[in-house]
Amino acid sequence: MSPPRTIIVGGGLAGLTAAHTLLEHGKDVLLLDKMPSLGGNSVKASSGINGAGSAAQQALDINDSPEAFFADTEASAGAELARPALITALTGNSAGAIAWLTGTFGVDLSVVARLGGHSAARTHRDKGGAPGWAITSALMKRLEAEGARAQIVKSARVLRLLEEADGVVGVEYETAGTLHEARGHVVLATGFVALPYSGIALTETTCSGYSADATPGSLLATHRPDLLALPTTNGAHATGDGVRLATALTAPAGMCDLDQVQVHPTGLLDPAKPEAKTTFLGAEALRGAGGLLLDARGARFVDEVGRRDAVTAAVQAAALRGPVRLVLGQAAAAEVGKHCGFYASKGLMKRYASAAEFSADAGIPLAALEATFVSYNASASGTAPDPFGKATFHNALYTPNEELHVAVITPVVHYTMGGLTVDARARVLAAGTAQPIPGLWAAGEVIGGVHGRNRLAGSSLLEAVVFGRIAGAGAAQGV
Ligand SMILES: Cc1cc2nc3c(=O)[nH]c(=O)nc-3n(C[C@H](O)[C@H](O)[C@H](O)COP(=O)(O)OP(=O)(O)OC[C@H]3O[C@@H](n4cnc5c(N)ncnc54)[C@H](O)[C@@H]3O)c2cc1C
Repeated sequence: MSPPRTIIVGGGLAGLTAAHTLLEHGKDVLLLDKMPSLGGNSVKASSGINGAGSAAQQALDINDSPEAFFADTEASAGAELARPALITALTGNSAGAIAWLTGTFGVDLSVVARLGGHSAARTHRDKGGAPGWAITSALMKRLEAEGARAQIVKSARVLRLLEEADGVVGVEYETAGTLHEARGHVVLATGFVALPYSGIALTETTCSGYSADATPGSLLATHRPDLLALPTTNGAHATGDGVRLATALTAPAGMCDLDQVQVHPTGLLDPAKPEAKTTFLGAEALRGAGGLLLDARGARFVDEVGRRDAVTAAVQAAALRGPVRLVLGQAAAAEVGKHCGFYASKGLMKRYASAAEFSADAGIPLAALEATFVSYNASASGTAPDPFGKATFHNALYTPNEELHVAVITPVVHYTMGGLTVDARARVLAAGTAQPIPGLWAAGEVIGGVHGRNRLAGSSLLEAVVFGRIAGAGAAQGV
């Protein structure tokens, strides 16, 4: 029989989703988060959440299906790392996830964009342009209003999973130097995986933030030393605790794809702090809205809405020749006006009255910018093939006399595709045997294998909701 209360470790979107799902199934929850406020990385998400076959798509006459979304995700994951059962769970439940967020919580997800690697417009966001906040804060507020059935403890760091012969039976956690134990099924929803876990005890000092990533034994140092020098978009809470908790069990959890770390092409370089180890993300929605990527000579070098891994490789190559910039014309900037206003307020994006003004400030010959616009417009209007294979041209055309919004960009460590091995029921599997560990589920970024070698934009919020719902239902039923 399943215990009356389930413990959820982590109060980002995956944990909040699992908590609400458990409540829907008549179970009480204890949600623990080590930070003083809930939300994790989920509140920062800026491009949106995917859904294929949603009501918003139908209202906008967008032709899409779970099968098309499956095909895009499988192609992006790569033949060797695509796991059909996990991709089916993700894509097949996507429209239901959107319906749950809009129907149950009243979240506005009415704007739908086509982003890199997607064959249809399916990334949903709110009109305010802050989808992570719109979604996560709605779930947070509802949970906080739930009363006695949902106990939330903030600044509570889970240090250990409690085990008995029949599996995981609870957690040990710490608040203000005091240790506590709580008993029940456990859902791990601790997010980003890439900080030290290997052979390192889970203590205050080893969980202090991204800078610890360079320590011997860290995931990046072990699996992707080539990424150690890059900045990250992740918050200081993103320390890979879930992986360490589950791999410290007597029969440790399995892990997969640890070398698959997503580098996002458009971190925004802060001119005041070019060496900063954390950066704001320039949302993929900016390129979806029609933003261009220009190299130091003012030339395009890639399909801006190509798959994220391909765009990142091209940006890294272009960066060898000097600063790379994200440039939005007037129509594109208007479509993502809230984003641009926010980046400008942080000193990360500049507004120029014309290409001539931009040229003078950036030291790029005006003739080069004009030539780029002429060539892009020819591709967009179909009079010449695009040299980089771009097929969708949103908010073209560009003219030298229009206002431009410009940011210098840098590739950033953004997301971990690898993590705990789970099955399509979000049960954590033991290393070696691949048998489910009784009493333990996981959801969100802490799980591995859903996206293979490359995650599509918008599929992480979706992963948090889909697998949060599956884990919540499984933990409620004990299966
Ligand atoms: C800037 C940015 C923009 C993004 N934009 C998008 C987007 O538009 N679309 C998209 O799909 N994805 C996007 N992503 C990725 C996406 O936001 C995350 O992958 C996703 O939100 C992860 O959700 P989660 O619930 O698994 O983890 P999180 O939201 O990170 O939550 C994990 C929580 O666990 C807590 N925790 C960790 N360890 C412990 C412990 N030991 N004890 C207690 N609590 C613990 C943390 O404090 C945190 O609150 C973006 C990411 C970033 C950084």
